[in-house]
Amino acid sequence: MISLLGCIAFEHNPWLVALAVLICVAGSWITIRLYLRAASEAMPLQRVGWQFLTAVCASAAIWCTHFVAMLGFRPHVPVDFDPVKTIASLLIALIGSLAAFHLAGYRRLWKAPLWGGALLGMTITAMHYTGMAAYEVRGIAFWNMSYVIVSAICAVALSVATLHVSNLASPRAKLGGSALLVLAIASLHFIGMTAFRVEPLQSPVGTVDAAHLNALALAVSCMAFVIVGTGVVSYMIEDRTRNDSVERLRQMALSDVLTGLPNRARLIDFLQIEVTQLQADKERLALVAIDLNRFKEINDSKGHQAGDEVLRIIAARMTKSLRAGEFVARVGGDEFVAVRRYTEAAQLTDFLTRMENATSRAVQYDDWEVTPGASIGVAMYPDDAQNLDTLQNNADLAMYRSKADPHHAICFYEPAMDETVRARRALVAALREAVTNRQLQIYYQVQTSLLSGEIVGYEALLRWQHPERGFIPPSEFIPLAEEHGLINTIGEWVLFEACKHAATWDPPYRIAVNLSAAQLSSGDLPRIVASALQESGLTADRLELELTESIIFADRERALETLGEIKALGVSIALDDFGTGYSSLGTLQSFAFDRIKLDRSFVCELARSNQAKAIIRAVLALGKSLSVPVLAEGIETHDQLLPLIEERCDEVQGFLFGRPVPLDQIVASGQIRIADPAESAQPADKQTDEGLLSPS
Ligand code: C2E
Ligand code: MG
Ligand code: MG
Repeated sequence: MISLLGCIAFEHNPWLVALAVLICVAGSWITIRLYLRAASEAMPLQRVGWQFLTAVCASAAIWCTHFVAMLGFRPHVPVDFDPVKTIASLLIALIGSLAAFHLAGYRRLWKAPLWGGALLGMTITAMHYTGMAAYEVRGIAFWNMSYVIVSAICAVALSVATLHVSNLASPRAKLGGSALLVLAIASLHFIGMTAFRVEPLQSPVGTVDAAHLNALALAVSCMAFVIVGTGVVSYMIEDRTRNDSVERLRQMALSDVLTGLPNRARLIDFLQIEVTQLQADKERLALVAIDLNRFKEINDSKGHQAGDEVLRIIAARMTKSLRAGEFVARVGGDEFVAVRRYTEAAQLTDFLTRMENATSRAVQYDDWEVTPGASIGVAMYPDDAQNLDTLQNNADLAMYRSKADPHHAICFYEPAMDETVRARRALVAALREAVTNRQLQIYYQVQTSLLSGEIVGYEALLRWQHPERGFIPPSEFIPLAEEHGLINTIGEWVLFEACKHAATWDPPYRIAVNLSAAQLSSGDLPRIVASALQESGLTADRLELELTESIIFADRERALETLGEIKALGVSIALDDFGTGYSSLGTLQSFAFDRIKLDRSFVCELARSNQAKAIIRAVLALGKSLSVPVLAEGIETHDQLLPLIEERCDEVQGFLFGRPVPLDQIVASGQIRIADPAESAQPADKQTDEGLLSPS
């Protein structure tokens, strides 16, 4: 040990030793990084490329360290270098390192890094002693073989340790690996130099050109730094590019591609962090589920590009309205979730108002405008739920409540909602069963002309007789059928069934059938109506389809186009529940309706409210001016009827004239006679057997 230190301290130029160590440290640092980079490369060709770069840097570190340190060695005799052996030592360093790193990266070899490390150690040894063979001194060189053997053992053992440590999963592995490689190179060199002794043959005066050797050492160092520097720069550029790509991929994995908002995965991360930071005693976490109301209609009627644009615009508005600590994510087609912590109710109200504003303002796209609107449900942590799954579920429940209630865009979770949802789910299941098991039935309600006092038609009204729960009103199950995609099947069945019945009636009264929004937006309605007429043999002028303003309002242009096609078949169209919609006058102007059905709510008020009388008078005047007959719904008493007669209302419908009843009751009362099956195009009883799903 003392000889070793003495060799370093007294037989070397300290500046060149320091330079050699610097080269060794820099070269080892980058060698280990490049080696690990090569090891992580999946593509074989690229891996070999990285291994080559590793070997170039490693050999520069090994050879230049050796050469510069050797130039700093002071043998006190003239020295010379054999060019062939010097170049051979350089090639040994390069080829040996390449082979060693390639072997270390050979995945099918057991403990490959250790074998590679051993080869690297042998390379360092072979390079050093070949380099020493090129070192020609004018004197007698002595080798202490013990030191030579120890140096070789140290080089191999430390190189094996280098690659082993570098591959460890520890954060300090790279540093440890680099330090071990420095030790491997330096120990081999300096122990090797300790083994070397020169006995001068003659007086060395003036024979060692120190300046010449120093200049050579500097030149070699410069080359070493250039090579190592190239390795460092390549590594850093690639590392940066890779980190950028990884970051981009990470961003992509956590955000929604269409809107750029965070996605569900990011939401979950965010919620988990927020919950841990919540000051449980005074803070609350509000989770706001937002679902657009008219997104499906926009998609169906304007195409997916328009739908995407609407989502992008709304997402941008939401993002813009966010304040510090607030968060919004897109978690599904038209579903968003917004989150914020709050201490005072006013903060939450303000947050909700901003979120609602983002969806309730009109969206402009090309030459049309739509107001998507949203149903918003809010649940609070920890009050409404003790874990995040339940919190999201409860916010959804509140959102569904808001969807079902057009008057409340924002609903807060209440424990009773759980029960309601369970009940609704059971009802949906039962409705599906009712559709297949034909538990649905059509009742008919008479429509009478006030001018002649005669029956003019019947409205088909759907009834559901639940085997256990009894009668379930359409106001309860029709919205359910609309929500769960059952309405098209049901609506089509009603249409076919009512047409088939009416085709057998004598006298041939008009038959009115109600339509839902989904039926109108399916785009297939004109074809379905035509085939219902054709199959039943009912003439088109006897069929009337009733629809409410809200159906048209959802997608005006397309609805009016479809209605035009139906009207072209000869079928008449009635505007149902008139007066309860948003823009009654505009609706009336936009389409040539065949009948206005004045909503029951006006008739109810008729006997006691002058205002209701004035409204009815105005509607009747409007009907007259547009030449559209008006039918007043819901007449229950003579007091309600009288003003309608006075105001010369065209037609009426209500309990006073007849409740909705099954067809056989109407037949039994003698109002309708069923024509002989031979006379009608299709017999009624045959059609009833075909079941609900047959018309489609
Ligand atoms: P609607 O089309 O406005 O039908 C009139 C509703 O008023 C019917 O309720 C009828 O029973 C009720 N009604 C008639 N006269 C009176 C009266 O004098 N007093 C009172 N209080 N009510 C009266 P119903 O049958 O419960 O139907 C409710 C709604 O369900 C209908 O309103 C219609 O929008 C919808 N509906 C019924 N059947 C169908 C159907 O086959 N398809 C679709 N899409 N909707 C249907
Ligand atoms: Mg109706
Ligand atoms: Mg109505």
